Amino acid sequence: MIQKLDIKTHSRVELQEITGRVSEIIKASGIKNGVCHIFVPHTTAGIIINEHADPSVVEDISAQLEEIVPQKKSYRHMEGNSPAHIKASLTGDSRTLFIEGGKPVLGTWQGIFFCEFDGPRNRSVLVKLIADTV
Ligand code: ZN
Repeated sequence: MIQKLDIKTHSRVELQEITGRVSEIIKASGIKNGVCHIFVPHTTAGIIINEHADPSVVEDISAQLEEIVPQKKSYRHMEGNSPAHIKASLTGDSRTLFIEGGKPVLGTWQGIFFCEFDGPRNRSVLVKLIADTV
């Protein structure tokens, strides 16, 4: 079964932490050990795992992506959102986590962030959990 997280973003670029919501899905499933796949079904949004203890880290990531992929440049894509497509390609569309003891296995400083690059929009994140069989 695929589960869906509804995500509402509020600005053009926004790195929104979803660690708690993913943890809730795992907890509600009752799965103690297994694998959690997270997939973003969008071409202008992505997903990363990085530091959530200091919010300035994702601000720096966001600012540097903006420098690497400038908003104003002569892109060919007529929709006008090529920077968002490129940033989504750089961050990627999925992550896989281990589940141990009914919780996602993450480093002390790690959090899961949905990356909006062409907001504000209503988005979704798909989650599939697979329990260990042995
Ligand atoms: Zn486009």
